[in-house]
Amino acid sequence: MNQVTPTEPPIATLERWMAGPRFAGIPARAPDAPVPALSFEFFPPRTEALETQLWACIRRLEPLQPRFVSVTYGAGGTTQARTHATVTRLVQETSLTPAAHLTCVGASRAEVDDVARRYWEAGVRHIVALRGDAPPGQAYQPHPDGYHYASDLVAGLRRVADFEISVAAYPETHPTAQSPDHDLDNLKRKLDAGATRAITQYFFDGEVFLRFLDRALAAGITAPIVPGIMPVSNYGQAVKFSAMCGASVPGWMGSLFAGTDEDHETRRMIAAIVAAEQVRLLQANGVDEFHFYTLNRPDLTFAIAHLLGVRPQAS
Ligand SMILES: Cc1cc2nc3c(=O)[nH]c(=O)nc-3n(C[C@H](O)[C@H](O)[C@H](O)COP(=O)(O)OP(=O)(O)OC[C@H]3O[C@@H](n4cnc5c(N)ncnc54)[C@H](O)[C@@H]3O)c2cc1C
Repeated sequence: MNQVTPTEPPIATLERWMAGPRFAGIPARAPDAPVPALSFEFFPPRTEALETQLWACIRRLEPLQPRFVSVTYGAGGTTQARTHATVTRLVQETSLTPAAHLTCVGASRAEVDDVARRYWEAGVRHIVALRGDAPPGQAYQPHPDGYHYASDLVAGLRRVADFEISVAAYPETHPTAQSPDHDLDNLKRKLDAGATRAITQYFFDGEVFLRFLDRALAAGITAPIVPGIMPVSNYGQAVKFSAMCGASVPGWMGSLFAGTDEDHETRRMIAAIVAAEQVRLLQANGVDEFHFYTLNRPDLTFAIAHLLGVRPQAS
């Protein structure tokens, strides 16, 4: 005879809702709290169409009056001329303060110093100093006459001119670091060598960043560590890129984006909500500086800046 399993009586809706844990909402920004300081990152365009896209992006974000905007340096210095052209155009044609990314990889110290000197002569006063990466599949090898690590580059730049210098930080540890503690020592070395701020690799879990701040403070770091925010509108691409740069993608993000591959509009709305929750959580925890990886697309960054309380200003 088949055994009949008695079915549980259904739990009434309200009882089900009320039985779970309760959370308070993220507190809103106090009306008199200072407006956060923002910075935006762009990459130098490869084609005329991308150049038009970049400049539309710059013009849209310019009225938000970011503290600075930075322009990346292609892997191995491959965009040297394009980075230089973009940065100098920013100096000449906009009200923005540009920061030029500069890497050590594949160049002698004299060559890197020369690039830096030309930036100084063009009126650029801020450098984001990085080591850079080897081409895919190869281990990093410093140039025989080059700066080995970003900390060496920071020290070298200080000898070239009185630049403001930002460096990179890794809340989830740089992928080839010996250990999280070695990586934190390295960050301290870069700041001690003369950098005044760190900008982080992007991350998606706010707690990862907040715990990193605790560790940095305990290690004696007091310079600002500005969270790098990447509003993700292409989830698949973000997963691939994150695997390379050591940023973890939480499972909940996959669930949120699942089924939206062909649905651009829904994907963008989800992207905005994910980034909005991330920055609001950080803001509620006292963070008031943010660096946005814009990918040369302004809309998500503009909307999230609005949520943070940043409004366009007449120049
Ligand atoms: C905000 C930001 C912007 C970026 N922009 C660019 C860009 O424009 N162009 C580009 O090509 N890449 C860019 N990158 C990527 C960056 O170049 C890579 O992550 C690179 O692998 C490390 O650069 P770094 O400046 O952090 O290196 P470093 O600080 O030199 O560290 C590199 C590794 O070496 C280790 N290390 C450092 N010093 C020592 C030592 N003395 N002994 C042993 N180990 C040591 C560190 O722990 C780390 O694992 C950016 C990254 C970030 C977070």
